Amino acid sequence: MIMPLPIAHTLISTSVFVAYRGGFSLKDDWRWAALFAFAGLLPDIDFVTVPFLGFGAHRGFTHSFLFAFLATALIYIFISIWRSKTTPRLWAFLFMAMALHPICDYFTYDYLVERGGVKLFYPFSNEYYESPLPIFMGIELRHLKTIFSLHTLAAVAYETVLSGALLLTTLYLKRTFFSTGRRAEQ
Ligand SMILES: [Zn+2]
Repeated sequence: MIMPLPIAHTLISTSVFVAYRGGFSLKDDWRWAALFAFAGLLPDIDFVTVPFLGFGAHRGFTHSFLFAFLATALIYIFISIWRSKTTPRLWAFLFMAMALHPICDYFTYDYLVERGGVKLFYPFSNEYYESPLPIFMGIELRHLKTIFSLHTLAAVAYETVLSGALLLTTLYLKRTFFSTGRRAEQ
């Protein structure tokens, strides 16, 4: 079993939000940042099926690009109803935040060796795709002994540094080179 943990998905989604928003102010933006974090975490909703179907059911449909497309479209429709002014750009960035989740999982070492990977292209392909060169370390979640281990600590620290660096870099680039970031949409 695998994953970058929620912390990596949240930091990566926040990076997408910063790119969308043109900066980040905790006071003004926390609701939108929370929405992007929600989008980035939603694919793991299939964890609710694990007690019934086992870990093999994880990383199926909810980890496909189709799910990201449909789920962000739904979120976008809700936002459009709630606020009159929305643009397709918001949908595109929400899609990016959600689609990056299965992409990050693709680049994570999968301890479910009998069937690792992510069903990225479902329903066009039922194959589970897994990068031969993982970026994230992954965690074995099937045993308490491996969850509470030094390896888990190292994996969490490593992915926090990695995705935290991405967030800081996005903030830096936005501030330095794209200081005219669009803030007019919200
Ligand atoms: Zn996942």
